[in-house]
Amino acid sequence: MISRRKFLASSAALAIAPALPTITAAAPVASVEAVKPATTIWVGGHHGEFDWHPFNAPTWRDAVKQMLEYHGYGNDEEIADTMTLTDEELRKELKYAGMDAERAHKMDGLRPDEIRGHHWIRTGLGSTCDRCGSECYDGDGGRAIGTEVVCEDCLTLTDLLHGDKWDIERAEEQIIEVMVDADCDEGEAFEVLSRGNDMSVITPTIWVKCLAEARAAL
Ligand SMILES: [Zn+2]
Repeated sequence: MISRRKFLASSAALAIAPALPTITAAAPVASVEAVKPATTIWVGGHHGEFDWHPFNAPTWRDAVKQMLEYHGYGNDEEIADTMTLTDEELRKELKYAGMDAERAHKMDGLRPDEIRGHHWIRTGLGSTCDRCGSECYDGDGGRAIGTEVVCEDCLTLTDLLHGDKWDIERAEEQIIEVMVDADCDEGEAFEVLSRGNDMSVITPTIWVKCLAEARAAL
């Protein structure tokens, strides 16, 4: 005779068995989750210089060590010596050198060698414009358009018309200006605008609206 208690225990054991494959199948998902923050990115360089570089480092001290190596602050031995300083002393030393290393959370998960200009802009930092090479910052003229960094001067009507409502408004103001300069001669305005822009983005609706405003301004 099998007791009720034993019976329950054995049926519970049976019930667990089919569940096992599910648990096993779930395991890779769990490990992917664990792998997700594959990198912890810090950026470091000289204040006001465009020589900052990304470093994958678990701690500030490790990022500083890599930064000193990258920027050639001494040979291995000298850097090892510097790294024996306390955090406070090290901060003073960096201040004296005009350097710093700070966390760039938005770059986490990327490998330093795959970090491009648009990542710097999207992190709220600076980069060089992919169209003209000039330096620009996020929030101060620089923007990331797809995988491209574009400075204020290089922004085209096409870029603006693909932007938000403020950008579209700005694009319309520029179109109106060109139309006014052309005394509302549509052929001339079209010719001027088509020099640096993909005219397909200026829809007939935008054209008519801007032309009406330009005529009113004449
Ligand atoms: Zn530019």
